Amino acid sequence: MQSASYKTIETPIGPLTLYSVDDALVKIEFSDKTSDNAFEYMKSRFGDYEITEKSAVLNKTEEELLEYFSGKRRDFSVKTRLLASDFSMKVYERLLRIPYGQVTSYSDIARDIGFPKAFRAVGNANNKNPIPIIYPCHRVNARDGQLSGYAGGTSVKRRLQELEQNVLMRSRDDIISQNELFNPGVTAYIRSFLREDEKYREILSHAAENNIPVVKPETASLLKLICAVKRPEKILEIGTATGFSALIMADASPGLQRLLTIERDEARAKKAEENIKDSRIELRCGDALELISGIDEKFDLIFVDAAKGQYYKFLEMCLPKMREQGIMIFDNVLYKGITADLTAVKHKNRTIARNLKIFTDMAMNDDRLISTILPTGDGVLLSVLK
Ligand code: SAH
Ligand code: MG
Repeated sequence: MQSASYKTIETPIGPLTLYSVDDALVKIEFSDKTSDNAFEYMKSRFGDYEITEKSAVLNKTEEELLEYFSGKRRDFSVKTRLLASDFSMKVYERLLRIPYGQVTSYSDIARDIGFPKAFRAVGNANNKNPIPIIYPCHRVNARDGQLSGYAGGTSVKRRLQELEQNVLMRSRDDIISQNELFNPGVTAYIRSFLREDEKYREILSHAAENNIPVVKPETASLLKLICAVKRPEKILEIGTATGFSALIMADASPGLQRLLTIERDEARAKKAEENIKDSRIELRCGDALELISGIDEKFDLIFVDAAKGQYYKFLEMCLPKMREQGIMIFDNVLYKGITADLTAVKHKNRTIARNLKIFTDMAMNDDRLISTILPTGDGVLLSVLK
């Protein structure tokens, strides 16, 4: 006969009751006591058992869960046993591939496992997930990004998502690699309201995997807002990378006739061509410093997100390309805070920072412009032509 065991533990999201059969964890319930449901589930799936007091796997589960809640653990190593229909098993296996701190939607999972129309069935499988937290069904939201049901309650689901995002933001490596200007907790808080539309998911994950820069979420949201207010007909972008910000701006500009975007890196430009399926957007591959003077058009909005050491040149070159009351947006002007503290940085960065400072002086003091600096994302400088 198999041996089964259970254990109730206290956690920051309330008590959990854990169940094991032999050496595997089989169930977690959001409850401070055992339930008949759980025992019936175990019997029907795994056969008869005898209850034993001690269970090494439950002790290990408790340890790993507490590490998870304290932000020290992102993946679980405890042995689990799950038995469900083929379809549900596909869903549960897919859950394990949602990265820590990220969310996906029921319909995306349905598509990924080859049943694009079965998003409701995916939702049902999620509701019945026997081993929540470890099989992270809390990382699945409705398609519009709204929190949807959760066995432990939606407030617990929100807390789990926030916990993971805060951990990501707080971890030193992430702070350095993401170069936040602010208290990472504040950044994580702002970002919890800024989930990007699913349609950009592939571009963003490709960029993350391949170290391709993209505007930060706060900057993307500012770009959308400016496009909604300004309603540009013509946009010039310098620094396409793989097309994320170009698409964001095009999608947010109802009256857009044309967006010209320039990228000097051939591989990135090629990837951007694949990503951009919008006939209003034209991509040119080349150095903007050489191409701009040959452009015989004027723009309502110019977005500069390219080599920071060249911003003062871009400012000069772009001014004559602006329509009246046109707006220029320069990203990364605070450069991880380095521009504010020139003494502390390495030589190469110092040159870039010095050039950025020259640019900032020019933009802020030019009589033709009204300019301001926003500490948004990596620092954004906005200039409107008077
Ligand atoms: N705007 C993009 C990210 C751009 S990253 C987004 O948010 O999706 C900056 C890009 O500018 C890099 O891909 C780099 O190759 C390009 N770049 C830098 N200097 C450039 C120049 N002088 N001309 C054209 N592209 C340039
Ligand atoms: Mg940038």
